[in-house]
Amino acid sequence: MATRRKTAKTAKAVKATKAVKATKAAKAAKATKAKIPNARKVETLQRRVEELERWFNTQDRQIRFLERERQKLSVLVNHSDAGFLVIDKSRRVRWANNVFCDWYDCKNLSRGNERVHCNEIICGEKEICKDCPADYALKTGTVVHQEMALVIAERSRQIYFTAMPIKSPEGEIDETMLMLQDITDLEVLRQSQEELMAAKESSEAANRAKSDFLANMSHEVRTPMTGVLGMSGLLLDTELTEEQREYARIIQSSAHALLNVINDILDFSKMEAGKLTMEPLAFDLSAAVNQVTDIVVDSAAAKGIELIVRFSTDIPRRVVGDAGRIRQVLLNLVSNAVKFTSKGYVLVSVENLGNKDDVARLRFSVRDTGIGVPRDRVEMIFEKFTQADGSITNRYGGTGLGLAISRQLVELMGGEIDVKSDLGLGSTFTFTIDCPIDDCLSGLPLPKADLEGVRVMIIHGHDMVRGVLEEQISDWGARVSAHARGVSALADARQASEDGDPYQIMIVGYEIPDMRVEVLAGVIKDDPNLGTTSLIMLTSVGQLGEARRFEAAGFDAYLTKPTQPSELMETLTTVWGIKKAGKEAGLITRYTLTESEHLSVAAATEVAVAEDERKRIRVLVVEDDVCNQKVSRNILGILGCHVDVVTDGRKALTALESTRYDLVLMDCQLPEMNGYDATREIRSREKETGTRTPIVAMTANALEGDNETCIKAGMDDYLTKPLEKGILEEMLQRHVRSWRTPSVV
Ligand code: ADP
Repeated sequence: MATRRKTAKTAKAVKATKAVKATKAAKAAKATKAKIPNARKVETLQRRVEELERWFNTQDRQIRFLERERQKLSVLVNHSDAGFLVIDKSRRVRWANNVFCDWYDCKNLSRGNERVHCNEIICGEKEICKDCPADYALKTGTVVHQEMALVIAERSRQIYFTAMPIKSPEGEIDETMLMLQDITDLEVLRQSQEELMAAKESSEAANRAKSDFLANMSHEVRTPMTGVLGMSGLLLDTELTEEQREYARIIQSSAHALLNVINDILDFSKMEAGKLTMEPLAFDLSAAVNQVTDIVVDSAAAKGIELIVRFSTDIPRRVVGDAGRIRQVLLNLVSNAVKFTSKGYVLVSVENLGNKDDVARLRFSVRDTGIGVPRDRVEMIFEKFTQADGSITNRYGGTGLGLAISRQLVELMGGEIDVKSDLGLGSTFTFTIDCPIDDCLSGLPLPKADLEGVRVMIIHGHDMVRGVLEEQISDWGARVSAHARGVSALADARQASEDGDPYQIMIVGYEIPDMRVEVLAGVIKDDPNLGTTSLIMLTSVGQLGEARRFEAAGFDAYLTKPTQPSELMETLTTVWGIKKAGKEAGLITRYTLTESEHLSVAAATEVAVAEDERKRIRVLVVEDDVCNQKVSRNILGILGCHVDVVTDGRKALTALESTRYDLVLMDCQLPEMNGYDATREIRSREKETGTRTPIVAMTANALEGDNETCIKAGMDDYLTKPLEKGILEEMLQRHVRSWRTPSVV
């Protein structure tokens, strides 16, 4: 009963609570309805605040951006070395940079409250000038540039003035920025540049004048030199007393020395002008070396120096290169070696360091036993006008140009030149160049060594000569022994004969220490066991009459040093061939060797044919200078040619109409019709006849371009005066197939 009462009480209470809650909710809803307009206002305000924040942020960014731009401009203006200032419409200075303030010493740009006028500072004038560029810029709104002279810090300066108008936000020009650039130094630079240009032009003109002068001088000097060299050469070929011969030799060697100096100077100036170029042609390597050693052989012999030539066996016979320049470098090295050596030897070696794609790497070296070069001077001697020490000029002469030119030449040939030297002991100069091997060997058969097993004895007092000969002859398959003295040589020869393996050939040096060579030859020839041995005399200088003396003493052949390997081989094979055939032959000399037909019985007839052919060779010399006519006529005469001489190009055309010539030697500068025009005419006429006569230019100009002009005109080759026998011989060899060296000693 009590529980039921309690439950009724609770239900009543719950009901009352619910009623209270409902009343409260109704009141709250009423109150909220009244608050809504205020909330909107707050929302609007909040949006405004956010917008303002964004606006402030944008403004802030812009301010920062402008500040940064201002800083850049300030850096530019304050760190520039130009003066900047801003003036207002009445030319009062509103602002100036440090440079401007420093220049005009005007940190304070106002006078009391008044700002100063720009004309007072810059021009030092009270009034504005009539043609003031700043004024013009302000009035017209255009940027004005003007160069003007101003005095700044008491120094007169050249100023590049720029006035740049500035617009107000309203678009009115109310200020101008002035920029003052000091271009005084630039002006100085410009002036000196102009002066430099003028100097360059005048030096180029002077250089052209120098080249012209050199060309003329070269021509003028070379022409008389042709006479001196040619005539003294011819004089030496006549019979003379010893005294006369000596005089003629001195004339010739002095003329050669003079010509060398002229050539060096000419080369040097070409080198300086970068005009030294190479003219590669196929040439005979051993002949080129021969021509060089031929020039120094007399002076080496006169000093008692052995001049030795060594070729390695794998040297190609003909290579392509500028033979003249290779000879020039080699001659310079060999002449120096002879000049700076008083006893011992000069060894000229040519080695093949290897072939690659038909190109041979050739090493030429010249070793001497002379004074040597001090270690610290070794590099310097390749500099122009430099000698190893100051006393050299007095003692040995020279210009100090030779090695500088040689180095340049070798480098132009793509090679390198080097020296190793020991003071007091000697030097070895080496140059290495790459030369393509000429495969066109027609008419130039390689000599065949047929010396397999032949016993050869060398008797020579000089170790190096003996060594080189032994090495070379062994390479050809012969069995070689060498002796320094006659007595031991005789003992060895007798022993060999007793052993049934006698020496077949003996090569005897001109001077052996223990006996005269004639005595040695006599002993051998008189000995029944040795008498059949062939004897070859090896001497330094061939002199008229000596050949007969040796022939009488029993010698079979006579060779002058330095012997070229080809010549030595030919002598040995010729001597051996005659001996094997059991034939008798006269003394064999270098001049008879070109006819390898000596080996056969048919030799006599073939030589006769060759002689006849040679006689038929006709050379037309076109030359107006009487002295040169004589020289060329005589040299060609000695070389066994029939010579006709005419004095100008027109006469040459007439001569060629009536006679067939094997070669024309054409001077370039001729009266009536010059050599170039004459050649062009000859070539055009030949088109009709289908013939072609070799034409070789004789030019006194050794300058760049001359050779090209000759070839362009239709000439086949050229030689520079003075004419020399060796060079003419080479020309005949090259251009006249039927030509043979005459067989005279
Ligand atoms: P030149 O011989 O005309 O003085 P080079 O240029 O040919 O000029 O040589 C320069 C110098 O090098 C020579 O003066 C000499 O001092 C030195 N020289 C050259 N070759 C030799 C050599 N074979 N032995 C010693 N010294 C040499």
